[in-house]
Amino acid sequence: MIAEIIAVGSEMLTPHRQDTNSLFLTAGLNDLGVSVAFKTIVGDNRRHLVAAIRIAIARADIVLLSGGLGPTEDDLTRECLAQVLGVNLHRDTTILNALRARYAARKMAMPPNNARQADVLDGAHVLPNANGSAPGQYTDIVLPDASGQAFRKIIILLPGPPKELKPLFDFECRPRLSAALPAHYIARRQLRMALIPESQVDARCAPIYSQFEDVETTILAGHAEIQLHFVCSKHTLELAQQRVDTLADLIAREMGDDIFSDDGEDLEAVVLLMLGLREHTLAIAESCTGGWLGERLTSVPNSSRVFLGGAITYANALKASFTGVDPDLIAQHGAVSGPVARAMAEGIRFRTGATLGLSITGLAGPTPGTGPDADKPIGLVYIGLADGEDTQVRQLHITGDRERIRLWSTQHALELLRRSLM
Ligand code: ATP
Ligand code: MG
Repeated sequence: MIAEIIAVGSEMLTPHRQDTNSLFLTAGLNDLGVSVAFKTIVGDNRRHLVAAIRIAIARADIVLLSGGLGPTEDDLTRECLAQVLGVNLHRDTTILNALRARYAARKMAMPPNNARQADVLDGAHVLPNANGSAPGQYTDIVLPDASGQAFRKIIILLPGPPKELKPLFDFECRPRLSAALPAHYIARRQLRMALIPESQVDARCAPIYSQFEDVETTILAGHAEIQLHFVCSKHTLELAQQRVDTLADLIAREMGDDIFSDDGEDLEAVVLLMLGLREHTLAIAESCTGGWLGERLTSVPNSSRVFLGGAITYANALKASFTGVDPDLIAQHGAVSGPVARAMAEGIRFRTGATLGLSITGLAGPTPGTGPDADKPIGLVYIGLADGEDTQVRQLHITGDRERIRLWSTQHALELLRRSLM
């Protein structure tokens, strides 16, 4: 079973509005074991809408249309679908009375155009809309294809406003669809990796996941990490789970320590868990990331058990006064240097009494550094990790804009910590 979603509305063909309904509908359809094979966005234009509906009905088993059910002249979805299916529209008196009652409740007369919202395709089920005026419609029909062979098609009309569409899909469409479709269960797993190029992940994993045709594998890259999503649909949950787990375990074995999470947890949550298990406490000193690392760590509930806190030592004076970095060290090597990252990590550890001190100092750009840092490249970042015995320092060259350099710096700091705790 494959589906197509058609988002109707000229505004979504401008740079100002996006079709988000289809994301919601895709998630819902996937839950029901239906893949979305096509998404179309079409403007409020009769000829274009008729063409889009024709194509969708020819190539998908389930077609969902959102928008264009309102009362105005450019709301054409009902008429266009009726035209393509070759069925009539009839005016439904129950809907008409409900529309009149909505206006009466506001002490207004209903504009004549609004009666169009009561037009229902012959043979369709009306899906009552508790949050708006235009109801949805659900058609389950058998249509001949070009060669005359008969095919079952489910075609659903939903109103455009998301707060109307979502409950209509959840409460009216889901039960109907799940009764119409074969029973199935869905299992999912997620593996997450940091700081590794997508091409490398794919080169190593593709030979494995391509052997699991019944598991849908998606690689998502972004925010300094790679995620592998696995989804499998089967007649029993055990079967689906077993396929997903077998594949995820094979890939986990291939990727080894690069994987920080095999069940979807965030990197910061994983690191905090590891710190807790090893009875560590952590303090941090951040420069170019300006508190971002602290924000990530404190976004995890209960992090105070292991994360003590830290300092944003942005100006050189504060690096010296707060984390005890020797001003001569800054004068000699620059604030963005290995020795200063080392001194910041050791200093914050000493000052707070934490068992581990973690530091970040770098050039996030776009303006160059000053003093001894003047000739250093933008994206040069040093990370320090002090545990009281020895202090590790990493030199990094991060490409991209200020935002990216700052995000990747926090990711590198968390990864250094995670790998040291393994
Ligand atoms: P109405 O009775 O409100 O006119 P309608 O079914 O005719 O409902 P549209 O007029 O197409 O729906 O859209 C109404 C509003 O719903 C749009 O202005 C937009 O904000 C939102 N909307 C429509 N389609 C989408 C979509 N695909 N994704 C997100 N928002 C949408
Ligand atoms: Mg409208």
